[in-house]
Amino acid sequence: MYEACGWVLLESSIADLPADLRWVYESDAVSIEQLAALHETLGVTSATDLAAAVREQRIRGLEGFDAETEARVGSALPGLRALVARVPLGRATSLAEPVLGVLRGSELVTWAEPSGSLRRGQDTVGDIEIVAATARPADVIDTLLRGLEQPRVLHRSERRLYFLRERVQIGVRLPEPDNAGAALLGLTGSSGHVDALRAHAATAGWTLTSNGLYSSDGQLRRSPTEDAIYTTIGLPCIPVEIRNGDDEIAAAVAGTLPELVSRRRIRGDLHMHSTWSDGRDSIEAMVEACRALRYEYIAITDHSPHSAATRNLTVDGVKKQAEEISQLRERYPDITILHGCEVDILPDGRLDFPDRILEQLDIVLASLHERAGQSPDQLMKRYLSAMTHPLVALITHPTNRMIPNKPGYDLDYDRLFAAAVETRTIVEIDGAPGHLDLDGALARRAVAAGATVAIDSDCHRAEWLDRQMTFGVMTARRGWVEPRHVVNTRALDEVRAMIAAKRAGR
Ligand SMILES: [Zn+2]
Ligand SMILES: [Zn+2]
Repeated sequence: MYEACGWVLLESSIADLPADLRWVYESDAVSIEQLAALHETLGVTSATDLAAAVREQRIRGLEGFDAETEARVGSALPGLRALVARVPLGRATSLAEPVLGVLRGSELVTWAEPSGSLRRGQDTVGDIEIVAATARPADVIDTLLRGLEQPRVLHRSERRLYFLRERVQIGVRLPEPDNAGAALLGLTGSSGHVDALRAHAATAGWTLTSNGLYSSDGQLRRSPTEDAIYTTIGLPCIPVEIRNGDDEIAAAVAGTLPELVSRRRIRGDLHMHSTWSDGRDSIEAMVEACRALRYEYIAITDHSPHSAATRNLTVDGVKKQAEEISQLRERYPDITILHGCEVDILPDGRLDFPDRILEQLDIVLASLHERAGQSPDQLMKRYLSAMTHPLVALITHPTNRMIPNKPGYDLDYDRLFAAAVETRTIVEIDGAPGHLDLDGALARRAVAAGATVAIDSDCHRAEWLDRQMTFGVMTARRGWVEPRHVVNTRALDEVRAMIAAKRAGR
C-alpha cells in the first residue's frame, strides 16, 4: 500500500523518504509501520503537518496509537528538527526558483509562493515547500514534472508532490484556491507565530487549524488568501519576515506594526566588487546591471591589499581604477558611480590603505575579515578605532559570520551600535547569502539604538545584484527596519552629506 502512494517504505530506502518523516522514524518515536499509518490516514508529509496533528490531537485516536505515542512524537519534534540538514537561503532560492517559474507560468495555477523559512527569509532553510493554488492539481503536477524534466519523485498524491532536486527535497502543495490561504499561512509559520495567532483567533471566537478557520458552530470559513484569515480575526496581515512568534501580534493588536523597508525603496547599492579585486565582472558590467535595476547611485568597493580575498586592489590600482570609473561616468550619465573601497581593519586597528589614498575616494567601507587570533575585546578595539576614523563611513558585515559554518564574533554589539551612533558610522546589513549580516535580531537592536544601516548586496557578479539586495532587504525586514533607518533609501545628496559631515567632524 505504501508503494501505491509513491514511497517505498523499506529500511534500505529510508533515505528516499521526505526528510522530515525520515528523522521521525530515526528518532524511535514511532515504528516504520506507524509512520506509514500517519501518512496514509492523516496525509502527513512534513514536520509542519506532524506538529499540527499532535497539536490538534488527531494521532491518539488512530488504530495502533494512543495519547502516549502522540506525546512521544510531540516531544521528539523540536530536538529532531536540528537533524534535518538545512540549506542556506541562497541555495534554497536557486532550487525553488525554477519550480516557482513553472508553476507561475501555468494558467492552471492561481498563485504560487514559497512557504516556511524560505519565505520568511531565514538564513538557512529546513523544508523547501511551495504552495500553489489550483483547482486542477493532477494537471499541474503533470505540467511540473514535464517542466522540470522528470525529477526523482519521492511522493505523489492528489494535492502533494515531493521530489529531489540536486539531492535536496522539494515539496509542492496544491490546495483549492478558495481555501489556499490557510495552507500558505500554516506552512509559512513560524510555529511560534501560528500558535500565537491561534490563541488570538480563540479570543475572537475562531478556531484556527491547519485546515483553516472554523467558527464557533464548526463551520469552515474558507480563506483564499492569508489576508482573509488575518482580517477575519481582526488583525492586519503581518509581514512574513516578522512572523517569529515574539511581539508581532501584540504590535498588530496595538496598531504599532511599523511600515517595513521594501525592495522598491532602495535607491542605490553601496557595496559591490569588480575584477579589480575578487569580483567576477568588470565595473562596466556591474554598472550596466545596476542601471537595469534603476538605481540612482552605486559604489564600487573592491578589497584592500591585505584582505584574504583571492585578488585585491593595490595602491597603484586605485589610481587606475579611478580613471576607469571617470570614463564610465561619462558613458553612463544616468547613474552616479561612487568610487569606494572595502578596506580591511588591520590587527592593530589601522586601515589597510594610507589616508592619502582613502581621502581620494567617495566612500570608505571598513571590515574585519579575520580575527587574527584576537579576543572579543581586541576585536572591539579594532572596530572602535576604525569607527573613530573620519574617513570610515560604514562597517560591513559586522559579525563576520559565514553561513552555515562560521558563527559571528561574540562581541558586545550594543556597545558597537552605541559607537556607531556616536561616531556617525553606518552599519551594514549585507545581503550576500553567506553573510546576511547583521541578521534580523541584531539589525533590530542596531536601529533601536539609533544607528543608521545600509542594505547592500556585497555582490561579486552582476547577475546576482538584484537577488542579493533582495536577501538584504528581507533580512532588514526581519529586523523591523523601516525606510527611515536605511541610508540607501535616501537621495544621493543626503548620502554624500552624511559622509562629508563625518569627514569634516561636523
Ligand atoms: Zn567583506
Ligand atoms: Zn565585500
